[in-house]
Amino acid sequence: MAGILVQKYGGSSVADVERLCRVADRVVAAKQRGYQVVVVVSAMGNTTNDLMKLAGEVTTAPPRRELDMLLSVGERISMSLLSMAIHARGFEAISFTGSQSGILTNDRHFEARIIEVRPIRIQDELERGKIVIVAGFQGMSYKREITTLGRGGSDTTAVALAAALGAEACEIYSDVDGVYDADPRVVLGAERLASLDYAQMEEMARMGAKVLHAEAVRYARLHQVILHARATSGGEGMTVIRPPQGEEEALPRPAVTCLRPLLWVSAPCDATLYPQLEQTLAQADLRPSMRFWEGGCVELGFWRSSYPDIEARLQALPLRFTQQREAAVVSAIGDENILASFFSQGHLQSLVASLHHPLLRLWTAPLRFSLLVDINDADDAQRALHQRLGLMASPAS
Ligand code: ASP
Ligand code: MG
Repeated sequence: MAGILVQKYGGSSVADVERLCRVADRVVAAKQRGYQVVVVVSAMGNTTNDLMKLAGEVTTAPPRRELDMLLSVGERISMSLLSMAIHARGFEAISFTGSQSGILTNDRHFEARIIEVRPIRIQDELERGKIVIVAGFQGMSYKREITTLGRGGSDTTAVALAAALGAEACEIYSDVDGVYDADPRVVLGAERLASLDYAQMEEMARMGAKVLHAEAVRYARLHQVILHARATSGGEGMTVIRPPQGEEEALPRPAVTCLRPLLWVSAPCDATLYPQLEQTLAQADLRPSMRFWEGGCVELGFWRSSYPDIEARLQALPLRFTQQREAAVVSAIGDENILASFFSQGHLQSLVASLHHPLLRLWTAPLRFSLLVDINDADDAQRALHQRLGLMASPAS
């Protein structure tokens, strides 16, 4: 029996009919190479953003269940059109939604997590020789509700299917030919990384690298699925994400990421009030990407992409935030010893000097350090950090 290949195409790869047809050609080519092919698609171009905007015109705080009903439509448009395009090329194809594909999730609407995959219908259709097209970014909760997997979640669909089907490879196609050590649209001289282990990639994705969804990398790590991040336009360039290859492997230089926009809020909050605040946040299902409590003050950061209606949701809390600011978290992610020499070699001084606003926060975590900066400093901070990391002498081993 031929091996199974899972390919995922992002929104820009299917942004219009012309591009969608080019994807159909690539899919057919993979089938002709002898693979059983499963294709996961994202919504066309800006569809998801447009649907979000539409919801925002109706209400400032759309119920998350209804958002899922709305957003899951985007991927269904791409899956059916791609299936038609493949039929038009003389090949048999069938499209499935997430729930038809057996993707079962928890019931956390808008950012659901996959808990089980039962791809029975996909397996049946593959055995019949069909190319199977799956709508990314969606599943069905154990309550039989439609859920979505968080912005960028089609990657996770592809990884979960690759794991459940025992696929030979999981290829993630987008408009970039892999993962770079900084965002090439912001940092001139950013370089593509040939390979990365799961831990570093997961941290990069969580802290804002856009090529792969963090949850997809976590899933790939748990199920040891090897990922190939490649460009839809072709070419040999790619980044392979896989388990660590042992001690002797040369570590890539630390990478720079940026998480934005982040709404940063703060308020006076004493030691008695703080635990209550945390409980209220949890009950309201609000999970800050950043939190500090110190002395009499609490600071929280919410990633706007997770909480498009954050203002309305904060309004509903019993605590009034006295300060707020648009901010970004710029991080350096890599080996701890290499990162430590950033400080010992005095690079922080020159980085801070290149900012127009004061550095708001700095903190470290395993595999990274992060800077909280004003949103208007986000690009300069990424450039300065990338340049400084490049200037670093190799650390004493
Ligand atoms: N269409 C969804 C989004 O824009 C999911 C995805 O593209 O992976 O977030
Ligand atoms: Mg994506």
